[in-house]
Amino acid sequence: MKEYDLVIIGGGVAGLSAAQYGSRANLKVAVLENAIIGGQVFNIMDLENYPGVYPPVNGADFVETMKHQAESFGAEFFLTQVSSIDKIGNKFKIQTSDGTFSSFTVLIATGASHRKLDIPGETKFSGRGVSYCATCDGPFFRNKKIVVIGGGDSACDEATYLSTLSNDVTLIHRRGSLRAQKAVAERVLKNPKIKTIFNTIVTEISGDEIVKKITLQNVETGVTSKLECDGVFIFVGMIPQTDLVDMLTKDEDGYIITDEEMRTNVLGMYVAGDIRNKPFRQIVTAASDGAIAAWSAAKLIREIHGEVYK
Ligand code: NAP
Repeated sequence: MKEYDLVIIGGGVAGLSAAQYGSRANLKVAVLENAIIGGQVFNIMDLENYPGVYPPVNGADFVETMKHQAESFGAEFFLTQVSSIDKIGNKFKIQTSDGTFSSFTVLIATGASHRKLDIPGETKFSGRGVSYCATCDGPFFRNKKIVVIGGGDSACDEATYLSTLSNDVTLIHRRGSLRAQKAVAERVLKNPKIKTIFNTIVTEISGDEIVKKITLQNVETGVTSKLECDGVFIFVGMIPQTDLVDMLTKDEDGYIITDEEMRTNVLGMYVAGDIRNKPFRQIVTAASDGAIAAWSAAKLIREIHGEVYK
């Protein structure tokens, strides 16, 4: 049995930030990650919107630095698959492919993944014209032809944002009307820089080294057509990675509800980053969540030990 004060599940920015803050607060910290340390940030070519990091840095370098920083304070990293989390008394037992971890506190920082369209070209051109983050990648398509796919709040909000960068934004939605909240949808419909194409799906993304065009199909007539474009922004929903934590209270979209200290309905279990119910999912807000969660966990551990937290 490996004994820790704080076990962090997920090695994205929220988990890395918590690892640094937790270990620096003298907690014995383990980070359990089943894939690549850094999560979604690992794939960012130029990270240019993290305050204080300028000029832009490579996302993989950024998270590698975060990992080294956490390790310098004593955090330990394990490449392992978590299969279950149980609370027995005031301790958690975390079963993994690397054995059992025991801890007073657990932070769930497993993130959310962008729902994919699963169409030809989507994976091939990811990072080369296909994006799931307008704030991150929009500036690369300044004054270019931009396509946004989806009809929800995200698609409408992001299309509105992208219209501040380009006069040529086309929103494509599979239904005849937008799903987004009325005010959000109307902002798109009244925006002269945003064209809308309804009742249409995108069936293929194509190009050479970068995106050049997409294939459309009208769902009512079946007629197909091509549309030239430089950027394809896909906002067809998110999937929070909550498989391990069915015991936690979620909102109607499946995101886990916390208070401002990242506490959940289970004492000692915290949640940070994209898996959490919150209005703005960014690297900087994930880092903030992680720092708060570690602080909150340290506070609880000192209470358990009868210490006064300062
Ligand atoms: P969402 O509300 O689930 O909308 C996803 C959109 O993608 C829907 O229009 C859906 O079409 C479409 N879609 C799904 N799968 C598709 C596919 N395979 N092909 C083509 N289209 C597909 O997701 P979201 O916009 O990311 O928002 C997630 C949650 O966050 C929502 O609750 C939303 O209200 C909230 N949010 C709020 C704000 C805000 O308040 N400003 C901003 C962003 C997000 P259908 O309509 O046909 O299902």
